[in-house]
This record gives sequence, structure tokens and C-alpha cells, in this order.
Amino acid sequence: PAAPLYADLAGDAQVSFEFFPPKTEKMEAQLWSAIETLAPLAPKFVSVTYGAGGSTRERTHNTVARIAQETPLAAAAHLTCVGASRQEIGEIADAYWEAGVRHIVALRGDPPEVGGTFEPHPQGYSGAADLVDGLMKRHPFEISVSAYPEVHPEAASAQSDLDNLKRKLDAGATRAITQFFFSPEAYFRFLDKTAAAGITADIVPGIMPVSNFAATQRMAAMCNTQLPSWMARLFEGLDDHPGSRQLVSATIAAELCRSLYTGGVRDFHFYTLNRAELSFAICHLLGLRAKAAADVTL
Ligand code: FAD
Repeated sequence: PAAPLYADLAGDAQVSFEFFPPKTEKMEAQLWSAIETLAPLAPKFVSVTYGAGGSTRERTHNTVARIAQETPLAAAAHLTCVGASRQEIGEIADAYWEAGVRHIVALRGDPPEVGGTFEPHPQGYSGAADLVDGLMKRHPFEISVSAYPEVHPEAASAQSDLDNLKRKLDAGATRAITQFFFSPEAYFRFLDKTAAAGITADIVPGIMPVSNFAATQRMAAMCNTQLPSWMARLFEGLDDHPGSRQLVSATIAAELCRSLYTGGVRDFHFYTLNRAELSFAICHLLGLRAKAAADVTL
């Protein structure tokens, strides 16, 4: 179908927002300001990442617990099994459950040294599917997992990556959130493959607004995401024009979301990088409008 005009988008999309745990007081203030700006869009949940190799264990916990306790938002904690025994993961899971957190984004994770390969902890989980199984046995969490429309760089094949996704969902995860991508076709081809594999869970697209093209280029190379050839050209000459860069960035992401919406997508997950404005603008273009604080009950 022809893509609807922005004015025709019905505002029936649901969104979730991803943050990272702040390191300094200044970053903490920035995170809370972003949460305050985005909360009135009534996200389905907000999630907080877990540093490579478990390096942010305390900070992720404190941030998620604070969101759960001080805001009406449903908070989800990312958790990886790198460098941790089953016992340690169990204790982290218990602490989340006690803090009222009911949603875990369960991941295998990457080793702390860039480019290293994952070695399971001797008493640990072998990967995300195994972790989901362990978490479900501990507490009846809602669990989200990762999915890779353009195939995880370590996967033996696209089929084995798909089999792995199915194992994670069969182990009890309820949704998958994708790695960021810029090609709606890649996402829709992947949806066809998941459907053919009998996967019925939601595969929520992870949307990365590009505020720094060079950094996105590096990240995309590491995680096997194709950058469209036109993107470099769109950011050319904008290094000294941060305002224009933001506008271009919002336009690219909004166009991607509009294509996805046209194909039937109604759930979107935003990698906010703890900055609200881009994600807020894209959600606005998608037809979402802020609700009064009193109505933000989730
Ligand atoms: P898995 O699903 O376990 O799979 C990893 C790879 O191994 C895949 O290629 C899979 O096909 C293959 N594989 C798994 N099991 C088998 C098997 N038995 N046989 C053959 N092949 C197998 N990282 C962080 O450190 N912290 C975060 O907070 C974080 N959040 C993320 C959020 C999202 C939405 C996404 C998409 C990624 C996130 N990551 C995060 C990155 C993630 O940790 C890396 O991509 C990591 O390399 C893989 O983790 P996974 O959970 O996808 O692994």
C-alpha cells in the first residue's frame, strides 16, 4: 500500500524506549530529564542496558529500580550472562524481582574486550536461550530477547540464527527486539522468515536515530547492519550544523518508521542514547501525542 501521509497516521503505535545507566551526576540528570520528556508518550515499557561483561551491574540495577519505584513506567532490565555464574545471575534476578521489576531483556552479551569471542563462564549459561530458561525457572518474568534481521555477525548461517531465536522464544521469551537496521525490506524479509519458521511472537523493530554518522558507521560495521549508500551523502557537510543534523536524523528515522507502519508495524523500540528530543520528534511524527501525567498509568 502507499505510505500514509504523516497527518494520516492514526496515533495507534506503541513505543518503548531504551536507556543506558548513567556514569556521572551530570549524565544522571540528563537521563532523568529524558525520562520526564518521554514518559507522557506512555511507553509500553522503558529498558536500561547492561554494560559489556556486566560492568554496570549496580548502576543498571539502581536505575531500573528507581524507574520502577518513582515513575508509573514499566521498567525492564537488560541482563547478560557474560562472566557470571548461574548462581550470580540468580541473585541478580532475585534482586530485580524484590525491587518490583517484572521484565528482563535477556541477552548473551559480548566479552568486555572489543572483538573478543564469547566464552561461557564455567558455571554459567551457554547463551541467551539458556539464560531465558534459567530466568523463567527462577521467577515468572516477562522476557524480551534480541533478533537480527541482517544476521548476527557470529551466526554460522541465517538459518542457525533463526533457529537460535526460536529457541529463545520457546524457552519462554514473549517478544524479540531487533538490532538496529535502516532497510525496511531487510526487516520485512526477516519477518517472512520468522513466520515461516512458526514464530508468532512480536518482532519489534529497534530504531536507532543517527545523531553521529561516524559513530553509527562504526557500530553498524560491528553488528552487521547495512548502511544505505544514500546515508553518508545526507550527513555530508553537517559536522558543524548540529541542529540541521538532528532534523536530518529525525527525518530519516521517521521515514523508516512510516515505511514500517505502512507494512503493518505498530510497535517500535527506540535506542534513545539517553536523549529525548529525537525519539520524541519521531514518535510525534508517528502520530503519538503526550498524555497528561495523570493519564500515564501503565
Ligand atoms: P544469542 O541469542 O545467544 O546468540 C548469539 C549468536 O550465537 C547468534 O549468532 C546465534 O545464532 C549464535 N548461537 C547461539 N546459540 C547457538 C548454538 N547453540 N549453536 C550455534 N549458534 C548459536 N549487549 C550488552 O552487553 N548489554 C545490553 O544491554 C545489550 N542490549 C541489547 C539489546 C538489543 C535489543 C540487542 C539486539 C542487542 C543487545 N546487546 C546488548 C548486544 C548483544 O549482547 C550482542 O549482540 C551479543 O553478541 C549477542 O547476544 P544475544 O543475546 O543476541 O546472543
